[in-house]
Amino acid sequence: MTKIKITKVETNKRMEEIISLCKRRGFVFQGSEIYGGLGGVYDYGHYGTLLKNNIRDSWQKSMIQDRDDVYLLDSAIFMHPTTWVASGHVGNFDDPLVECRKCHNRMRADHILESFGISADKMPIDFINKELDKLREEKKLKCSTCGLSDITAAKKFSLMIKSNFGSPTDELKEENVVYLRPETCGGIYLQYKNTVDSLHPKLPFGIAQIGKAFRNEIAARQFIFRTREFEQMEMQYFINKKDTKEKYEMWKEARMKWYFEQGIPKDKLQWYKHEKLAHYASEAYDVKYDFSSLGGFDEVEGIHARGDWDLSQHSKFSGVDLSYYDDETKERFIPHIVETSAGLNRLVLMFLDNAYTEDNLGGEKRLFLKLPKQLAPIKIAVFPLLRNKPNLVEKAKEIYDILRKDFICEFDDNGNIGKRYRRQDEIGTPYCVTVDFETIEKDNMVTVRDRDTGNQERVKIDELKEFFAKKL
Ligand code: ATP
Repeated sequence: MTKIKITKVETNKRMEEIISLCKRRGFVFQGSEIYGGLGGVYDYGHYGTLLKNNIRDSWQKSMIQDRDDVYLLDSAIFMHPTTWVASGHVGNFDDPLVECRKCHNRMRADHILESFGISADKMPIDFINKELDKLREEKKLKCSTCGLSDITAAKKFSLMIKSNFGSPTDELKEENVVYLRPETCGGIYLQYKNTVDSLHPKLPFGIAQIGKAFRNEIAARQFIFRTREFEQMEMQYFINKKDTKEKYEMWKEARMKWYFEQGIPKDKLQWYKHEKLAHYASEAYDVKYDFSSLGGFDEVEGIHARGDWDLSQHSKFSGVDLSYYDDETKERFIPHIVETSAGLNRLVLMFLDNAYTEDNLGGEKRLFLKLPKQLAPIKIAVFPLLRNKPNLVEKAKEIYDILRKDFICEFDDNGNIGKRYRRQDEIGTPYCVTVDFETIEKDNMVTVRDRDTGNQERVKIDELKEFFAKKL
């Protein structure tokens, strides 16, 4: 059986607690856990899937429902192998790898240099090795796992994951090689022409897609922050070159606004300007979130002005004209692109980290996920006060059946009411509804409890739907 090395997740105590909550409450599980796990691969449980889908839907709404100029695409993971030659990924999409000769721990050399304040982003391997040599001489170069100093020189490590088409018994012959896409935007460039020919959009317009991407990451050690299989939410905005600055600023503002609207506080977000740009790019900023429980601010999204590189390259390699004809100005040109590229799984971690809250409620310490209501996996939980009183259970089920038509709800009659509240708090449910004796015997009202304040109020059953429609 193939032996796969599983790397330990590098986190501080708070992140360990979040990871533990994710497993305990069914958000995120280690992939293939019963076989000992598979490094850098995670699965999403019931609540994690609901949360991820809500983040995805909110992004899609901001791109499609709230705008008139962005269209959707769902392209295949496999693309013609020349796609990745044209884009420069084959041969160039790599990270600098070093290995500890003692414990065989693999590390990213650029990350090591960055931890010493040396910027190594997109730097040539010779530069990286010179800087590593200096650290070696100063006896500062140490393995992050065993602490010993016997570290190899850096070499390029391709992030592209290969597969093969054809008979499953075929070797991975060059002519059969296909790649698992390392980013979703490749599909957008390949379907740019079909989109223009079928929908006839006028410039500027965008194509957005959400889907899986795969990278053979050297050090996938930060839970779902960096994994080998992940989802991206990308949008490519096609423009006339002269509009680059204006449209770039427009997207920077729109994307930052989205984070604020999802409840991320301003002081937990910052812009990071890339000083070293790819030769075709004119501007590149990342949105960074304060992942202090993983060591500091880090990237969740990139916003890049990519010039006409992508369409020009695919036009050159495919021989298909990808130019755009502007009816009004009578100009023909290859559109320039402004790209927004966010990692969905990284955003799940960002929202979990931001929501993870400990407080004191009624003299008791409690843990809850203060998720924005629109992202919470379950919106309302309905309980009978006691599970062994059939009339309470029946009434609670009746209410549950009414509310579930409009909201994702959960019915729970396990354990005592305190335990049920704790469980719903930990999965971030904004409201709990309890049916008690007074409901049946007296007032036809229920107790609605607010997750964040713990406050309770009585609401008439007839008015519940309207009450929640206003709140959620
Ligand atoms: P990093 O510098 O963290 O490796 P990147 O600059 O290579 O990321 P991009 O190629 O710009 O990332 O991808 C866009 C987004 O996709 C990132 O901002 C991130 O949110 C997400 N992403 C990239 N790689 C991964 C990964 N291995 N696991 C999870 N999300 C990822």
